[in-house]
Amino acid sequence: MADFSLSLNEDQLQIKDWIHQFAVDVMRPNAHEWDEREEFPWPIVQEAAKNGLYGLDFLMSAMADPTGLTMPVAIEEMFWGDAGLGMAIMGSGLAAAGISGNGTPEQMMEWVPQCYGTPDDVKLGAFCVSEPDAGSDVSSLRTRAVYDEATDEWVINGTKAWITNGGIANIHVVVAAVDPELKGRGQASFVIPPNTKGLSMGQKYKKHGIKASHTSEVVLEDVRVPGRCLLGGKEKLDAKIARAREGGHSAGAQPAMKTFEATRPAVGAQALGVARAAYEYALDYAKERVAFGRPIIMNQSIAFKLANMATEIDASRLLIWRASWLSKNCGFKNAEGSMSKYKASETAVRVTEEAIQILGGYGYTREYPVERWHRDAKIHTIFEGTSEIQQLVIARAISGLRIE
Ligand SMILES: Cc1cc2nc3c(=O)[nH]c(=O)nc-3n(C[C@H](O)[C@H](O)[C@H](O)COP(=O)(O)OP(=O)(O)OC[C@H]3O[C@@H](n4cnc5c(N)ncnc54)[C@H](O)[C@@H]3O)c2cc1C
Repeated sequence: MADFSLSLNEDQLQIKDWIHQFAVDVMRPNAHEWDEREEFPWPIVQEAAKNGLYGLDFLMSAMADPTGLTMPVAIEEMFWGDAGLGMAIMGSGLAAAGISGNGTPEQMMEWVPQCYGTPDDVKLGAFCVSEPDAGSDVSSLRTRAVYDEATDEWVINGTKAWITNGGIANIHVVVAAVDPELKGRGQASFVIPPNTKGLSMGQKYKKHGIKASHTSEVVLEDVRVPGRCLLGGKEKLDAKIARAREGGHSAGAQPAMKTFEATRPAVGAQALGVARAAYEYALDYAKERVAFGRPIIMNQSIAFKLANMATEIDASRLLIWRASWLSKNCGFKNAEGSMSKYKASETAVRVTEEAIQILGGYGYTREYPVERWHRDAKIHTIFEGTSEIQQLVIARAISGLRIE
């Protein structure tokens, strides 16, 4: 087990500096343009791939860190650069996590690299769980996968909603109901290989924030995939379903929940990056902006806002680092992953709002980045489990009761 330490090692410091520089040189100067264009920023993702920041190698080296801290440190810097562009760069990671969390080693080797492509031919991955009528309630998915024994194929039908990289990805990982009566315990994850007939993009959503990240519906009409596309394999799924039918409690976690549990501290780190960006900007501004003959920071009401922002940001980082270390070394004990995501995302919303307040009228205009950061912060309280769902997970963990 790696020691938990608050000092980053040489490798981590190097990665932090490297990504910070990328954020300063590439992300910050382009953030406003891609927010306004509301299109997927292919040139930025290609640039990230050329720099070694987008792709399997980066993912593998960050994941190999025994302390678990490299990933949140890297993500914080990237989202400090910009959350929309950051999400465009990080979005494929959710599909990769879905494959790694549920697939066999062979399936990981085959499909994860295809979520990224190469620096000269960049590809994307998408993780498709949510549906128009099932977001928080992932146990109620209507997308159905039926096994066709004659051809050893799975036939998938349904509509997925709010999917990051949906319809523009090379690899779609789809969670579907195999036995709907069993709710979450009757679900499985499937890889939909590139150019599979029957998968199409539905509406592309116009969003409040992270506009450079592509979000759309994914429509699945009689999509046929070979048996080897079932993550984890049929034998394992059959055994899990048989246990669930017998009413056993060891039927295994829902595939979507397994992925989200692992990625929550990373989502917290995204929110943290946005919060820190806004705090730093507001701090500098408050020292320079003069009203009533003195810098506005000389007023306690402004200085105390900044003191609270700094404290909440540091508290969030500590929770994220603890959760990341636990996740890597011994697993969560008391929903620490949910705590970190909940705290950091709520902090990001509050801190970015306070930053607008500190900048006054200027903060409310698109000439300054804080209004964008405020819009970008909000998504973190919604996706990968809303704040209410995180509270539910924490309440159940601390009480041992099935709080509803
Ligand atoms: C930009 C964006 C990107 C996304 N990317 C993806 C993606 O790549 N893949 C994917 O699968 N999904 C994705 N999502 C979907 C996202 O995960 C869902 O929107 C989210 O889980 C909430 O589901 P919902 O929208 O159906 O809200 P609902 O579940 O309808 O919730 C509505 C409100 O009710 C509250 N609520 C619901 N149930 C309870 C309860 N039991 N107790 C207390 N409060 C409750 C919620 O907290 C929320 O405030 C994305 C969403 C957005 C907006």
